[in-house]
Amino acid sequence: MTALDQYDFENLKNESETHVFNELAAQLEAVPQEVCRCNDCIGDMAAIALNRVVPKYRWSLLGGLYTASAMNDEKYRTSVEKAVREAIAIVRNNPSHDQT
Ligand SMILES: [Zn+2]
Repeated sequence: MTALDQYDFENLKNESETHVFNELAAQLEAVPQEVCRCNDCIGDMAAIALNRVVPKYRWSLLGGLYTASAMNDEKYRTSVEKAVREAIAIVRNNPSHDQT
């Protein structure tokens, strides 16, 4: 039991996940097919990228406005693009499993 057990954090979202997933999907289309797309490698890419961008936590009731403004910020958008590009390169050069 903790003092927070009675609360429901279902509405607590990190919007940067959405931005990173969208950017990852877009960039993967331009990446050669030999880059592994297994669940572990894609999950690694997402985790690496997410650790490199500023989190955008929100309580979902106000989410829409916040989400729109984050990607309208060029500095933030550029940081997401860069983080995803680097994450793909890292996993591509160093997959979390043996290459077969
Ligand atoms: Zn893989």
